[in-house]
Amino acid sequence: MILVVGAGVIGLLTARALWQKGAQVCLLEAQMQGKPASWAGGGILSPLYPWRYPAAILDLVDGAQAFYRQLQSELLHNVAIDIEVEPTGMLVLDVDDLPEAIGWAQRFGHNIRLLEAAEVQRSWPQLRRGLQGLWLPDFGHVRNPYLLQALRQELRQAGVLQPDNFPVIKLLRQGNRIVQIESKTGKRLDVEQIVLCAGPWTAGLLTTCGMELPVKPVRGQMLAFRNPNPEQLRTMVLYQGRYLIPRRDGLLLAGSTLEEVGFAAETTLDAQILLSRFAQKLLPLLEGQPPVHHWAGLRPGSPLGVPYLGQVLENLWIGTGHYRNGLVMAPASADLLSDLILQRPPRCDPSPYTPVFS
Ligand SMILES: Cc1cc2nc3c(=O)[nH]c(=O)nc-3n(C[C@H](O)[C@H](O)[C@H](O)COP(=O)(O)OP(=O)(O)OC[C@H]3O[C@@H](n4cnc5c(N)ncnc54)[C@H](O)[C@@H]3O)c2cc1C
Repeated sequence: MILVVGAGVIGLLTARALWQKGAQVCLLEAQMQGKPASWAGGGILSPLYPWRYPAAILDLVDGAQAFYRQLQSELLHNVAIDIEVEPTGMLVLDVDDLPEAIGWAQRFGHNIRLLEAAEVQRSWPQLRRGLQGLWLPDFGHVRNPYLLQALRQELRQAGVLQPDNFPVIKLLRQGNRIVQIESKTGKRLDVEQIVLCAGPWTAGLLTTCGMELPVKPVRGQMLAFRNPNPEQLRTMVLYQGRYLIPRRDGLLLAGSTLEEVGFAAETTLDAQILLSRFAQKLLPLLEGQPPVHHWAGLRPGSPLGVPYLGQVLENLWIGTGHYRNGLVMAPASADLLSDLILQRPPRCDPSPYTPVFS
């Protein structure tokens, strides 16, 4: 039996991959304070400005669009929830490193088109004027709260996700093995194999068995507006490091912030003002529209955003540290981690993700 701790996107897809590959899996979840990052994120199936990322990240990103499209039909069939994978394309405004962007697109075989400011204005007249853009038609987004709901339901139905809340507070170690885990209520479970996918809480769990991992929470806040004219903006727009994401039902998300405030998961007025100004500057028709939702999530931040995927003790594995790109990297991460645990030949080189401890 393999215990997986944490039903965010990494734990869910890892448990699902292990289960689909024939393993016996038990997924444990505890509602931590606030929403998990996997719920709170934007669901963009690409890093922002992907050409600025190292190969270790881009290798895990490749294939995500196709995976989520396939997952969409499987989940629709299995649990009748549509995770709304939307192939909206991404318009990136005001890019100052064009050669790098073009080099990246050629290397990974992505379509890319440079648009003069006049062309941007003709195609998206409602956006702020005078900005040239890069049009990346191959990218879309997933409605991640629905993704989480659907995966949890599917794995609950399969008997993988346990119905009871199980907040793990301690790993009991003997030599090079974890022998038991303990929950907040004192309940203990014996461990054969265990995988920690507890997002930013993973580092805290590891300290209970004497290990330090440089993963820490990075808060991100998001707003949602009711777009008065959703037909006019059907694409994702990225500008000065922030973005707008149009959902299918007319909600328009604006994100996000990057804040190192420990495990504080609340929203702030400062962020609301900052993100509202951004959204209204980019899409002036939002002026005077208050946001209809405001939320925050804690990303599992790692030093370079490259996740830790691999073995740390004889029967202890981790999958965390996906920072800003956990939704897009989750499918490949889960595939790699499950192959390593089951001692199958991995589809990519695992060495960039091998956990290192200070
Ligand atoms: C505002 C924002 C925008 C983002 N936008 C994007 C985007 O557009 N695209 C993208 O790819 N990524 C995005 N991300 C990043 C992405 O959301 C994260 O990298 C990813 O969700 C991390 O998933 P995870 O499963 O590792 O962690 P989490 O989602 O945090 O899940 C961890 C789970 O473990 C559980 N848990 C924790 N401790 C314990 C314990 N002791 N016992 C039992 N269970 C426990 C938690 O309750 C939680 O459910 C965004 C993040 C934020 C905050």
